[in-house]
Amino acid sequence: MRAIGPACISLLMSLSMTERAYFDWNATTPLRQEARDALQAALALTGNPSSVHAEGRAARRLIEQAREEVARLVGARPADVIFTSSGTEANALALTPAIETPAEKRPHDRLFISAIEHSSVRTGGRFPREAVEELAVDAEGRLNLATLAETLSRASRPLVSVMLANNETGIIQPTAEAAAIVHAAGGLLHVDAVQAAGRIAIDIGALGADLLTLSAHKIGGPKGVGALVRRSDDIHFAEPLIRGGGQERGMRAGTENVAGIAAFGAAAAAARAQCADEASHMLALRSALEAGLKAISPQAVIFGEAAPRLPNTTLFAREGIKAETAIIAFDLDGVAVSSGAACSSGKVQPSHVLAAMGVSPVLTRGAVRVSLGWTTTEAEVEMFLDAWRKLASALSKGRQGIAA
Ligand code: PLP
Repeated sequence: MRAIGPACISLLMSLSMTERAYFDWNATTPLRQEARDALQAALALTGNPSSVHAEGRAARRLIEQAREEVARLVGARPADVIFTSSGTEANALALTPAIETPAEKRPHDRLFISAIEHSSVRTGGRFPREAVEELAVDAEGRLNLATLAETLSRASRPLVSVMLANNETGIIQPTAEAAAIVHAAGGLLHVDAVQAAGRIAIDIGALGADLLTLSAHKIGGPKGVGALVRRSDDIHFAEPLIRGGGQERGMRAGTENVAGIAAFGAAAAAARAQCADEASHMLALRSALEAGLKAISPQAVIFGEAAPRLPNTTLFAREGIKAETAIIAFDLDGVAVSSGAACSSGKVQPSHVLAAMGVSPVLTRGAVRVSLGWTTTEAEVEMFLDAWRKLASALSKGRQGIAA
């Protein structure tokens, strides 16, 4: 058998790379080069950041540099950043009755969450199930502020959680307006900004958030690192989620993931520096994608099309299509998309987000999420449209297996 030469291998590799188009950036993003470099440099260090010797201090320096960058991404102070193992853990840390401020030491009696939150918020953290109440959204997928005000008028010390942008639809929530209502009711506002970070500019003060969640792997950092950012250090967790060695100012014990945190910091710095350029790049391609989609299937519905949305997300459906089948068909054509619904176990669940928006179950079953990123190209958008054209025409011919 003849051996394949290096030129041939690199051609095959570049062909297999160009044959795939990744449109699942809301699930996770590729590691940015800056983050990869920071990760590798940090892995070469030995010290424990809690040790006082030079090795320990070198590791500590990386963490504190990263803390500054993560704080800067959201307009916070470094001292108010608490590193965690994920966005999920940051949400779990935030959602507890035992949050104290100088003015208020009583535990929160109820947790109010918008009806479209991520599952890590929907579980209610450390609140008992019966103390968690959902807040309605309108048909555009935005929090209903009148309902919020009315609901909070009955609460004594509410904790409210409203995400900044939804992971399925990309729809941006009126968090600043919500914050004014929450604060007038004597409550605190937690904002899950995992999907919004790096895609729109964020300032914790302007948002009115008391607590804000971030996740490294949605902004080009590694998986398994997150942060909970406080509005100020007068917000204190009386019962941290993980207790032990007193790391993270006593609010999150455990030897820090030095390399992961250093890479998170590098990703945050890059995301902040390039946010505006990347957003306009993604928006231009997303507009082309949506225009192409509607030209092929005028009956397709783009959820929240007229609402303020992240520049990178399209959630669409066409009646008669089954999302699971469509995702497999896209995948076979080299295009990675996802269902709008949660499918962490590989099994697609009906979307609670679309249900909350009043979308019919028939349309919900066909919802496909396309999410773009900073490396997305026009050629990849064309690949997506070619794959969709094939699928839509198979559907029109009534081919088995695609229809719902
Ligand atoms: N919050 C939102 C809105 C998300 O989309 C996700 C992940 O998809 C999370 C929280 C959880 O973040 P992590 O994957 O870091 O646990």
